[in-house]
This record gives sequence, C-alpha cells and structure tokens, in this order.
Amino acid sequence: MKELSKAYSPGENETTIYEKWEESGYFNPDNLNLPEDAKPYTIVLPPPNITDKLHLGHSSMLAIEDLLIRYHRMNGYRALWLPGTDHAAIATQNVVEKKLLEEEKKTRHDLGREKFLEKVWEFLDETQATILKQTRRMGASLDWSREAFTFDEQRQKAVATMFTDMYKEGVIYQGERIVNWCPRCHSTLADDEVEHQDQKTMFYTFRYWKDFPISISTTRPETKIGDTAVAVNPKDERYKKFIGQEFEGEFCGVPLKIKIIGDREVDMDFGTGALGVTPAHSMVDWKMAENNDLEIKKVIDEDGKIHDGFGKFSGLTAKEAGKLVVKKLKASDLLEKEEEIDNALSTCYRCDTAIEPLPSKQWFVSVDKKLERLGGKSLKEKAIEVAKNKEVSFIPNRFEKQYIDWMENLHDWCISRQIWFGHRIPVWYRKVESRKFTPSNDLGSKVESQESKLKINDEIYVGIEPPKDIENWTQDPDVLDTWFSSGMWTFSTLGWPDNFKDGKKIGDLAEFHPTQVLETGYEILTLWVSRMIMMSLFAVGEIPFEDVYLHGMVLDENGKKMSKSKGNGIDPIDVIEEFGTDAVRLSLLIGNTPGNNLRVGEEKIAGMRNLVNKLWNISRYIETTYQISEVDKSDLDTLPDDENLTLADRWILTKFNELTLKVTQDIQGYRFSEAGEKLKEFTWNDLADWYLEISKTENNSEEKTAILQFVLGNLLKLWHPFIPFVTEKLWQELFTSDFLMISPWPKIDSDKQTGEALKNFSLLQNVITAIRNIRTQYKIAPKQKIEVVIYAHDKLSFLEKQTELISNLKTGIDKITMKESGDKISRAHYEIIDEVEIYVPLQDIIDIPTELKRLEEEIKSTENFIAGISKKLDNKSFVENAPEMVVNKEKEKLATQENKLKNLKKYFENIS
Ligand SMILES: [Zn+2]
Repeated sequence: MKELSKAYSPGENETTIYEKWEESGYFNPDNLNLPEDAKPYTIVLPPPNITDKLHLGHSSMLAIEDLLIRYHRMNGYRALWLPGTDHAAIATQNVVEKKLLEEEKKTRHDLGREKFLEKVWEFLDETQATILKQTRRMGASLDWSREAFTFDEQRQKAVATMFTDMYKEGVIYQGERIVNWCPRCHSTLADDEVEHQDQKTMFYTFRYWKDFPISISTTRPETKIGDTAVAVNPKDERYKKFIGQEFEGEFCGVPLKIKIIGDREVDMDFGTGALGVTPAHSMVDWKMAENNDLEIKKVIDEDGKIHDGFGKFSGLTAKEAGKLVVKKLKASDLLEKEEEIDNALSTCYRCDTAIEPLPSKQWFVSVDKKLERLGGKSLKEKAIEVAKNKEVSFIPNRFEKQYIDWMENLHDWCISRQIWFGHRIPVWYRKVESRKFTPSNDLGSKVESQESKLKINDEIYVGIEPPKDIENWTQDPDVLDTWFSSGMWTFSTLGWPDNFKDGKKIGDLAEFHPTQVLETGYEILTLWVSRMIMMSLFAVGEIPFEDVYLHGMVLDENGKKMSKSKGNGIDPIDVIEEFGTDAVRLSLLIGNTPGNNLRVGEEKIAGMRNLVNKLWNISRYIETTYQISEVDKSDLDTLPDDENLTLADRWILTKFNELTLKVTQDIQGYRFSEAGEKLKEFTWNDLADWYLEISKTENNSEEKTAILQFVLGNLLKLWHPFIPFVTEKLWQELFTSDFLMISPWPKIDSDKQTGEALKNFSLLQNVITAIRNIRTQYKIAPKQKIEVVIYAHDKLSFLEKQTELISNLKTGIDKITMKESGDKISRAHYEIIDEVEIYVPLQDIIDIPTELKRLEEEIKSTENFIAGISKKLDNKSFVENAPEMVVNKEKEKLATQENKLKNLKKYFENIS
C-alpha cells in the first residue's frame, strides 16, 4: 500500500506533474477522445510582450484562464487554450535601443536597419524562452502544439493578406493627418497611447502686431508663427464684425496672413474668446482649416525643431523658439498678460516625452467606410451593433457602456509607425530613374524617410508578395502598429487566411472560432478588444469571442501599484518557489472579482499555502484511517444505502451535493472567488472540523469509508481547476493513475432532498457551538468537565439521539440531562437556541462571587465605552465632516459594544 508523505512539498511535485501532463498530450483537444458532437471551448491567451518577464498580473490572468479551461475540459468540452507571444513593435524596439546605448553607446542609426534587426532577434531568442518557461510554472494547460507568435511566418502572411484586402476595399488608405508624434521615439502614437500629465504652464495674451484688432492667448507661442487664422464665436458681439476679413502683417519678424473665421466651438469665456489657428499643429485647428480652406504652414519638424523658412527661428527647438517669441513680444510691447495656469501635457506612454501634433503622410484604417461585406455598414457601426445586441457580452457589464461610448467617438485608426521592428507595410513605390535612392533596407537610416517616400509614391504596388521586378521598387519603410497584428489574434492563430476558403471557415478556424471568452485587463479594452472585434468582423464576418472578461490590476497589500523602484513588487517565481504554485494561484483567485483591482501580499499567499497543506493533511488522515487507496474510481459515482447512514452522513452528502451545484454555477457565472471561498469553507469547516471529528465518534465504518472516498475524490475534482498540482498528486496517489485533469466533473444530484438533514444538523451544530462558547466565556479550563441540562421541547426525540455527539465533540461534558421541559436552574448559564433551552450549572465550576464582580466591572467599563462613542456620534459636526468610512466604523464599534453589554448582563443575571 502506498502511503502519502507527511508533508506536501510543491517544488518536486510540480515539475514532475507538469511534465507528465505535457507528455500526455491532453492539453491538445484533438487527443481527448471526445465524441463527434463535443462542443468546443476556446480561449486564446492574450500574448504577453516578448520582452516581458512573468509578473503577478500575468499570473493572475493565467490562473483565471487555466481555471476556465480545466473546468471545461473536465466537463467534456473540446477545450483549447492557445498560447503565443506578441512581438510588441515599439516596446521591443525601445528595450533593444536602450540596451544598445547602454552597452555599446550606439543608436540604431549607427547600425542601420538590417544590423539593428539582427540585434533585436538575438535579444528576442532569449526573452521569448523565458516568458514561455515561466508560463509553464503557473501550471497553464496550454496547447503548445499550436503555439503562435504575432510575427512568425504564418502571422506575417495573415497580416499582409489583411492589409491587402483592406486596401482593395478602400478601408486602408494613405492620407495626411495630424498625428500624435513622439519626437523621441520618432513615431506616431494612437490616441490611447498618449498620456496626460497635469502641469503648470505659462499662458500668454498678446496681439500679432500693433494694429491687429484682436488679442489672442496661447500656451505655445512658438507655434504662432504658423497661424493662418483667428477663430471667434459667431455669437460674440465683440468680434463678429471681423468675420471674413483678412489681415496682413509681421509677427516677430515672420510675415503672416490672418483670416478671421467664425466657429461655434470657440469658447467665448476662455482667454480672450479668440483662438489663433495653427492648422499644422493641432487636431482642432486642422479641422477648422479643412472647413475654411485655410493655408497649412508646418512649423515644427519630426525632431521637434522649427522648419526652414522661419528666419531666426529655423533650427531652434520648440522650447527655444517659444522663449524667443516671448522675448520679442516683450521688446515690442505686444505682450498684454502673462499668467500661470493648470493644463494637461500630452506625453508619450512609452518615454514620457511631450507629444507634438504634426501633419504627416500615414496609413489609416477607415472606421466609417460602408462595406458591402458588412451589409452596407461600417466597421464602427458593426462593432457597436454586436455589443448592443449582446453577441459580445462584457463582464462586468459596466464595460459595455464604456466600449460603446468609445466606439461611437472613434476616428480613423492610424496604423503606420516610423520604427524598424515590426510588420513592414506591404506597399512598394516605383523607383524613379532621374532620382537617386538609397536601397530599401537602408532607407530607415535616413531620418528624412518621410520626404523620400513622398517623392516616389507616384506608382504604388500593394500585395502579399513583393513585386516580381523588385529591383524597380522600393518598400515603404514604415511598420504596422502592433495592435494591427494582435487585433487578428483570435483568427490568425487558428489558421486564417489558409483556413478561410471562398468565405467559408475550414480546419481549426471552423472548429474553434469564434472563441468563447477573451480574458484580459480592463486597461486594454479600447486598445485591443475593440480592434479584435472590428478585424474579426472584417476578415471572418463574425465576432471573435462571445464573452469579454476584464480583470483588474494586482496591487500590493496596501493597495499600491507594484513597482521595482519602490521595492514593493512580488516576483511570481520567487513566491512559487517559496509557497508553491497552487498557493500563488489561490491567492490570485480568492478575493479577485471582475473589473476590480486585487491586493496580494506574502501573508495572503502563506495563508493559501496553509489551505493547500490542510487539504493534504485531510487526505492523509482519511487514507490512513480508512485505507481508501485501494478503491476503484467508479466508486466515486456510487453511495452506500441510505438506511445505515447517520444524520452527519446524510448532512455531509447533502452539503457536498449543494457545494458541487454552487461551485459549478459560480464558475459558469465567472464568480471564481465565491467558488473558491465555498470550497475553502467546506474543506476546512464542514469536512475537517465537523465531519471528520464526528467520524471518530460514530462507528459505521463501512459507510464512513464509502462516504469519505466519495467526498474526497469528488472534492479533489472540484478543487482541481484552482489548485491543479496538489489535487493531481493526491488523486494519483489515492485513487488511480489516470489523470485527474481529464476525469469527469462531479455529477449534481438534482433530486437530492436538502431540507431536513441540513436543518437538523445545523441545530445540532448550534447547540454544540453554544456549549463550546460557554466554556470560553467563563474561561473554564480544558480539563474541567461540565454538566449540561437541556430542555428540548419538541426537539427532544431528535436531540436525544445525538447525545453522544453533543457530549464528545470538544464540549467536555461528563453529565448530560435531556428533558422536554423543566424549572429554571439558578446559578447556571442559560442559553436558548431555536426554542431549545440549555443550562450549564456553574456553582461548582467557577467562583461565583469573583465572577460576578468581574462581570460587574466589565459591564461598567463597556457602558463607559458606549457612552463615549455615542457622544461622538451625537456630535453633528463630526458626523457631517468626517469621511463616511470613519463614521461607519464608529457605528460598527457601537453595535459590537452594545451586543457585548447585552451578553454581559445576561451572564450576570444567569449566575446571580
Ligand atoms: Zn516616445
């Protein structure tokens, strides 16, 4: 007979078990030997950035997704969890550039495009292996045979196909637009990649020249040398007479032609109520220029410097130019006001550099173009429609509104990025003989690549493969926004476009798409989730997933963001090594609710480790006491006859049936924390503290063996999606060498009578608990036996049968008397539970006068304490001014103390 070791050591077991699982092939649904009609259940893993190391946020995501996959696998689904990594263009390039600068003091331009990309790949080989290895440590049951990478050959084909298809239908177009430009990263940023930081800044009010009729205000004086209009509100009595007029003059030495235009958007109360319009450097102004046919003058270039043609300003940085403008305004007495104001500075989410809005030739995805393949609707309209008609549901539901609001305000998506690492835009421009061109792979080393592109794009070729006469063409130097490839993640990983023939899905795409749930962080709802929906609607004509489960952030135990510099971060690998993966998973599942941030500290993980150990010890106790290691797993479906069962037996079976039902419902409703809490409560409280204690007293051992193997075996199944390692180990040691991972989920007996057994047993529990509490209250020594008199009224016949349990379950009773009713017993503690009267005579057990004196003193001090809190709460200014949390805390204190006082008075009365 095998015997379980005394203590569970996660370290050794976890590696061995994961290897066994992986070798079994069961992570791949094709190997599950399921019936033809088994339903698919698919999750694609949100691909971690290839440069990432596993952090607790990933761990939490992996724990949730693995729970869902394991649960569905045990429930007979064709469960597929598809792994992969993201090349994360900008992020990766930044990391490698930084490394290059630190280690070799070189920039990417020193290396050139080709050499630089070689460096990137070298670096990625290492980091990719790290994140994938760490993912395995979390116990993730991912189908590694289908592993994908957003930048591998298959995905490159998918991206080029998508681009070409979208281009052909006019969804992708090239246009000049104001983009968010980071002068440091030398790249455009999507609106949601721009961050806003509150800052103090100078606000200048001035006139362009002496006799210009209107004063304007700005925080960016340097851009004013590119103004071509002044906008005023057409209702503004001060200015409306000027609308339509044109003025010419010289501003700080730069000649300007300013037209006065009317625009209802202009706020009459802000500044002077007039707005200097700089079309080339503001989104709002760009639109005004389009509406009013204004000239567009570019002032600032891609390096954040002033363009040629602006006299003394040319070549200065924007900041220097701003200072010079102010100096000149002062010198010529044009500056009317200079004040400090609060405003929001737009910065790059990668490097914190201030963003310059710049006009630039870029590639865009149109979200408003009506498409035949979408039934005449646009990508935006269709993506809103699928949320509104609940084809895609959001958990928690509040994110549906956020998604729809965001979608409704969505502008065309700028998809080109001026970096080197990433999917190269599949567009080629015909070379023009008369001009000299740098070979395509060196193009990027020219900062002026934008310019060269503009000179050669007379004839363009767009395609999945390069043009045949490649020597006559030069490829667009830009790469695609990383969300373009990750937006295709649900279907590119399932073989699109090869698995999509004549508008029909085949192979994996037919079997596993749309996926069932996308589980990801709420912070990328707009960046990623929305784009996945649009791209899937375009490419496959269907939603990418049915449910979107959004998790919060993992914070430290004080609710602070974990950060390396603050030293409050927890490295998942460290805590896995110290406490085991199961404990780490549990601490990320229990207390974790959708859409809300989660606090985790080592103390919590240690607590979960104790729970894992408890499960081990319970199993070990059951094994050694009942020799259950020789049972057949089929015994897990059958139960002993009802007649030989005690109340406790019927209770634990009813409780377990109820647990199975509730845990199943909770998992299906994405309430993982609640499911975990119920499992914990059952394991620790119902099973260990009550049933196992009772089993030491009751001697129907044949039935007990059958029940305990049934409960334990099925309990391991319920726990498995939460803590897969320890449950698999226990299962294989105690039951069978077949994998727990693929054994069927416990059955729910829907006919089971739940009422009577639960109700009676809870009365018994309450009586026993009351007696235990009396012992505690009077500080009765554990060795001291007590006498108990119970007037049971109509519960007499039931309670009489339970005398044995009442006397033996840690109540320390040596004499128990049970009657239907009787006289009041003096100098005894008195308690009433569900009309059952309980007396514990205390005459011979405690020193009554001393106890009375102690109680009297405690009553007095409690009364004083209550008076103090009441006074505080009667104080209006405290209640009105203190934070609600503080007031509530005081109220809670008051209630607790009042309850304590009531009990103390009762004890006093009982024994006096
Ligand atoms: Zn940047």
